[in-house]
Amino acid sequence: MAKRPVIETRIQAIIPETPRVSTFRLAIPGEASFSFKAGQFVMASIPDFRNERDRPVRRAYSVSSSPLDLEKGYLELTITRVGEGGYFSNRIHAARPGDPVLVEGPYGSAFTLEEGNPAPHLFVGAGSGIAPLRSMIRTLLGTGSPPRIKVIYGFRKGEDFIFERELLGYAKSVPGFSLVVMHSRPEPGWEGLSGRVPDLLPSLVPGHSGEVVYICGHPDMVKGTVDYLQLAGFPEADIRKEQW
Ligand SMILES: Cc1cc2nc3c(=O)[nH]c(=O)nc-3n(C[C@H](O)[C@H](O)[C@H](O)COP(=O)(O)OP(=O)(O)OC[C@H]3O[C@@H](n4cnc5c(N)ncnc54)[C@H](O)[C@@H]3O)c2cc1C
Repeated sequence: MAKRPVIETRIQAIIPETPRVSTFRLAIPGEASFSFKAGQFVMASIPDFRNERDRPVRRAYSVSSSPLDLEKGYLELTITRVGEGGYFSNRIHAARPGDPVLVEGPYGSAFTLEEGNPAPHLFVGAGSGIAPLRSMIRTLLGTGSPPRIKVIYGFRKGEDFIFERELLGYAKSVPGFSLVVMHSRPEPGWEGLSGRVPDLLPSLVPGHSGEVVYICGHPDMVKGTVDYLQLAGFPEADIRKEQW
């Protein structure tokens, strides 16, 4: 990974998304030049947060805001607090507005939105995998006439719905935008879809209708989704994926 510039951002706002996930809005200093493509990630670190070998602790995070949001002077990272066993994610969840965060990047060229592609877009995500997909969706919706967009999003239960208001808002008001959510650990009273994303795909996406697909989530979900889409006739060139 060739080294990229490091910029010192400050936390401008911490937006709670779910009990374990927050979006960190990082203000970019006026003199810094930073650009990225929707889908790319950065390496984040916190000054003075070092490991037992006195090396900075760095972790990869997809940028969840759109490159279009850079005009407003910020980028956003949407981070799950791992809790027990976690390290950097717990540390950043203890940070406060005004605290510094070092951002190095952008990285990743294989999972970027191909802008200007008029084909219908299918986004398949699970958990915090919605982060880079949200960047892509905001980018498509912010530019001219967006293509048809379908989002299939799986998470554990109701309270784990990241970007709930934003995604439901698009589904309500943007023509050609549709959203299907499913709970993998549904609670009593949930009347929507229940199960794992790959298991429900056959009923939601019976075959290829020209869509390009962007998938992001944990490795099992991504593998199961790709396996199904290939069986359903999606050409490999139309399937892009990221996992962690
Ligand atoms: C390209 C890329 C993009 C990424 N983008 C994001 C992102 O947008 N948002 C995000 O939250 N994370 C993202 N990650 C994961 C992130 O880099 C860290 O691995 C994560 O925050 C855990 O770091 P940690 O230091 O707290 O725990 P670590 O010390 O790195 O890991 C502790 C344990 O937690 C497990 N773990 C890692 N991530 C999670 C998770 N999300 N939920 C439950 N258990 C987990 C690990 O498998 C490990 O067993 C991305 C990773 C990559 C490679």
